[in-house]
Amino acid sequence: MSNLRKSGGSEPSAVSAEAVRPSRAEAEAAVRTLIRWAGDDPTREGLQRTPERVVKSYGEFFQGYTQDPEEILRTTFEETEGYDEMVVLKDIDFHSHCEHHMVPIIGKAYVAYLPDKRVVGISKLARVVAAYARRLQIQEKMTAQIANAINDVLKPRGVAVIIEAEHQCMTSRGVNKSGVSMVTSTMLGAFRDDPMTRREFLAIVGRS
Ligand SMILES: [Zn+2]
Repeated sequence: MSNLRKSGGSEPSAVSAEAVRPSRAEAEAAVRTLIRWAGDDPTREGLQRTPERVVKSYGEFFQGYTQDPEEILRTTFEETEGYDEMVVLKDIDFHSHCEHHMVPIIGKAYVAYLPDKRVVGISKLARVVAAYARRLQIQEKMTAQIANAINDVLKPRGVAVIIEAEHQCMTSRGVNKSGVSMVTSTMLGAFRDDPMTRREFLAIVGRS
């Protein structure tokens, strides 16, 4: 599986991550350890099935490791009647987890591209966002990964990705600042080089 970009540097490949994957029983035991570390008793009634539930939730939270975003994008349509204007998907809700604290990052993504002959089903863009979100992430990397995947597979004239998110490691702990969100963007091709294109995109997503 090549769902991690080769340019990602020190990231382990999905294959080696799989090779060291613990059993479900080991994962549940680890949750019981964390419950004890938090100061509670994993054998009390309300917590007895918690490790099982947490491990199951992890299957959903981190489903992205089993998905290949480039594969998701590979079904494209070429019959576009010459449509070559901007395609924008706004307000894509996502849930991710910060790789430093393993707490939620919750936000919205805005994705745009300028097609060059090929377009992709709009639901695929949302699935690509989810495939990268459902991993341990940092927002900056996730923003670049989404843009690069679209750029590599669709080979459009440009790609723009903006992500705005709240990080619970900032809002629920540490500096405890609620209502603070972080905005990151990656602009490629025409979105980077042509101020008109960038302005049009920012106006469409209401950020001009
Ligand atoms: Zn964090």
